[in-house]
Amino acid sequence: MRAMLFQEVGKPLRPVRVPVPEPGPGEVLLKVHACGICRTDLHIVDGELTEPALPLIPGHQIVGSVAKLGDGVERFREGTRVGVPWLGATCGACRYCRSGRENLCDHARFTGYQRNGGFAEFTVADARFCFPIPGGYPDLQAAPLLCAGLIGYRSLVMAGEGERLGIYGFGAAAHIVTQVARFRGWRVYAFTRPDDQAGQAFAREMGAVWAGASHERPPEELDAAIIFAPAGELVPAALRAVGKGGVVVCGGIHMSDIPPIPYDILWGERSIRSVANLTRRDGEEFLALAPKVPVRTEVTAYPLSAANEALDDLRSGRMRGAGVLVIDEG
Ligand SMILES: [Zn+2]
Ligand SMILES: [Zn+2]
Repeated sequence: MRAMLFQEVGKPLRPVRVPVPEPGPGEVLLKVHACGICRTDLHIVDGELTEPALPLIPGHQIVGSVAKLGDGVERFREGTRVGVPWLGATCGACRYCRSGRENLCDHARFTGYQRNGGFAEFTVADARFCFPIPGGYPDLQAAPLLCAGLIGYRSLVMAGEGERLGIYGFGAAAHIVTQVARFRGWRVYAFTRPDDQAGQAFAREMGAVWAGASHERPPEELDAAIIFAPAGELVPAALRAVGKGGVVVCGGIHMSDIPPIPYDILWGERSIRSVANLTRRDGEEFLALAPKVPVRTEVTAYPLSAANEALDDLRSGRMRGAGVLVIDEG
């Protein structure tokens, strides 16, 4: 099969031909139709996430169809269309797994990081961690739901209840969470890099009531803010934008250092928290909710062989909505 292989930090992914993997017990072999690109992929290839299983096939927003069942898999049949998210496996036994917090599992293994992912024609996944894809979503439009959508959803839940939501960084996750937030009665205020007029226009198209530069103060005090951009200086900016009791949710897996903050911007019961990974329950809830909103994803498509160009476009902020590798539309 064709695959894009990550072998060394700082080097582009290499197009290779490797054998089609065999599903082990409890696993499924998937024919990959599409695989979304995520900022986490950049953190992996740039070496900011330091524990990849090399050589590695990245990609953790996989839409594919079941091509072969490993021993003991009864959940799916051949041909079923499924999605594979970032959470690839958990231990099921640690104190986090036993308390409904498998996203924090001490021994979790992540797709496209410690398990091979979807930048390839086939991949193998643990059947227990795959999701059926809701009907009505073509492969390309479904792929971004699996991380941008899921992490965005978990971040929104962590933002709590309120009416005025700030979103810092308007990429794949933001464009989805904006739609869900509006559906739940929030007014969305979008913050982008100061010179990113296209990003601000995109945010307004998606239903943001206001869009401006990240250092600006929004016209109303916010109830909560979600930061998707990996820039630590946004944390004090967001704390200054939220009112008393407001929460600032950091939705990314990596962020540059947060500068020192004066206590008075945290005072008034403001809080800062991160969101880590996802649980299968998040996936089930979000994939049931998405068609009701209905969430529509804007995608920029690339062929598998252009994975490096797609990552560069994401890095430079040139990508509108979510980037998706199209592997075999079918
Ligand atoms: Zn991701
Ligand atoms: Zn565990």
